[in-house]
Amino acid sequence: MKPPVFEYVRPASLAEALDALASSEDAKVLAGGQSLIPMMNMRLARPGLLVDINHIPELTEIHDNGDTLHLGALVRHYQLETDARIKAAFPLIPEAERLIGHPAIRTRGTIGGSLSHADPAAELPVLAMLGEWNMTVHSRDGGARTIPAEEFFMSYLMTTMGPDELLTRITVPKQLAGASHIREFAVRSGDFALAIAAAMVSLNGDGSIATVRFALGGVGDVPWRNRELESSFVGTMGSDALWRDIGRQAALAIDPVDDMHASAAHRRQLAETLLTESLHRAAEMARERSGR
Ligand SMILES: Cc1cc2nc3c(=O)[nH]c(=O)nc-3n(C[C@H](O)[C@H](O)[C@H](O)COP(=O)(O)OP(=O)(O)OC[C@H]3O[C@@H](n4cnc5c(N)ncnc54)[C@H](O)[C@@H]3O)c2cc1C
Repeated sequence: MKPPVFEYVRPASLAEALDALASSEDAKVLAGGQSLIPMMNMRLARPGLLVDINHIPELTEIHDNGDTLHLGALVRHYQLETDARIKAAFPLIPEAERLIGHPAIRTRGTIGGSLSHADPAAELPVLAMLGEWNMTVHSRDGGARTIPAEEFFMSYLMTTMGPDELLTRITVPKQLAGASHIREFAVRSGDFALAIAAAMVSLNGDGSIATVRFALGGVGDVPWRNRELESSFVGTMGSDALWRDIGRQAALAIDPVDDMHASAAHRRQLAETLLTESLHRAAEMARERSGR
């Protein structure tokens, strides 16, 4: 199918893009087009104006700022997969990228598009929650504001960004301690996952947990994380029994629903198994790194 008729502008600066977004009630940002164009072709999205941000150089920048990495919204999946600065700062990003779609999609699709699209079964929103990323958004009339990941994802395919706001920059705190791992289950390679589990673990010298974080995707309207549950395990000795217990408790805390791809019970079971495996592998890597 072809999309409905729309207007198209290609601003060369952020200011021009914000003007264009503010000029129409049904304007939409076009980044890599890997989610928006299929939705338009299927008539699930009908923007009257497309604001193509692909020619705004400042949105493509990657900056190392010491403890954080700043990623412009137009940084593409393939860069997230291959850039050494990104791998050093947050090793889960290239790991997750290899699970996203196919090379052609990763060549065009962007970090800003993936986060703004807010598919709860997408990998980057799960990492944003796990890594406590911050999203900087701009609008013509509101200036700039920063939204932490846990306030960014509102519902299925919805964020707390306003229609005239543009996601410009993602701030990724560097992972300074321990190790991390991501696992997912998809029916075919390159498909969206039925469930995703990502974990970060750092251990004390005696093998007890110094910090643990875990996040799940595909099991609700937004990526899932529960900091209270995480902190209840700090100080506990890391063991296979503990990873299984965390997997079980997380699976009881989520609220997946039945849909055409999987039953709620199947997603709950996947979440438990994938999270147990992710925690186990992250802890194993943390131990290897510390030479224990
Ligand atoms: C066959 C196929 C398989 C895929 N598999 C996966 C997968 O396994 N995992 C996965 O995570 N993704 C998958 N994707 C989606 C892919 O990752 C997209 O790149 C991503 O979802 C959207 O990025 P984009 O840059 O293409 O955004 P676009 O399609 O251009 O935009 C998506 C949405 O975000 C908005 N938007 C884009 N940029 C901004 C911005 N800077 N500020 C505000 N709003 C913005 C747009 O208006 C639109 O609503 C798949 C896509 C396809 C076609």
